[in-house]
Amino acid sequence: MEKAAEIAEIAVLGGVGFSSYRDCESRSVKTPYGEVTVYLTSIKGRTIAIVPRHAEEIHIPPHRVNYRANIWAVHSLGVKRVISTNSVGSMRGHPVGSFVVLDDFIDFTCSRSSSFYDDTTVHVDVTEPYCPEIKAALKSALGKQGLSYTEGIYACTEGPRFETRAEIRMMSQFADVVGMTGVPEVVLAKELSLCYASLAIVTNQACGMTTQKLTADEVTEVVGKAQDSIFEILSDAIEKIPETQNCMCRFAKEGACL
Ligand SMILES: [Zn+2]
Repeated sequence: MEKAAEIAEIAVLGGVGFSSYRDCESRSVKTPYGEVTVYLTSIKGRTIAIVPRHAEEIHIPPHRVNYRANIWAVHSLGVKRVISTNSVGSMRGHPVGSFVVLDDFIDFTCSRSSSFYDDTTVHVDVTEPYCPEIKAALKSALGKQGLSYTEGIYACTEGPRFETRAEIRMMSQFADVVGMTGVPEVVLAKELSLCYASLAIVTNQACGMTTQKLTADEVTEVVGKAQDSIFEILSDAIEKIPETQNCMCRFAKEGACL
């Protein structure tokens, strides 16, 4: 692709915490995978591109989100760092409303376009899927807000249905939280050598962890209540991300191409 213009420095994918993004300057970005509406703003002196993952009014379901277009769009704006927010169910009894900084993932998705490289063979390295510099910034921001958090392994399911009890029993052997939107986004970011990390918010206990029925409403309600707090965490984290990258993320594709 052409050299990216430097229109934004950091992207925030998800839209949670940025409910006022509609007031920001919007830009329609054309990508080989479709058009993406990106909102531009400035936080702590840094230019930020906000991409509401589920788009606008219709709320695109997680298995239909155009992950490739979203990542391509922010890359084409010159973004080098991506902070993602993801709603998760806990398989470890994390309190609802608490935060998990993702440390690794297991992919149970099955129908998504998960690579930019369909015509050439690129085995991108995901030994460290989440950028250590952005993770450190997120953890420091959470600490500053006095919020407890853990690091954890994320299991990504295909959705849009919730998981079965048996699936959760199986996944809980290997992962801490479960969600539907983190993969392939993290992988696609790696393929473009971007730094990427995720702040996961626990919106519910996973299926079978309590006797209660799971509803989409409770997820929306928890996320809604946490909007202000997520904005504060992300703003602090944005301030703390070093100007120059000292991590290895930008070399993710070295030695990956056959
Ligand atoms: Zn990095």
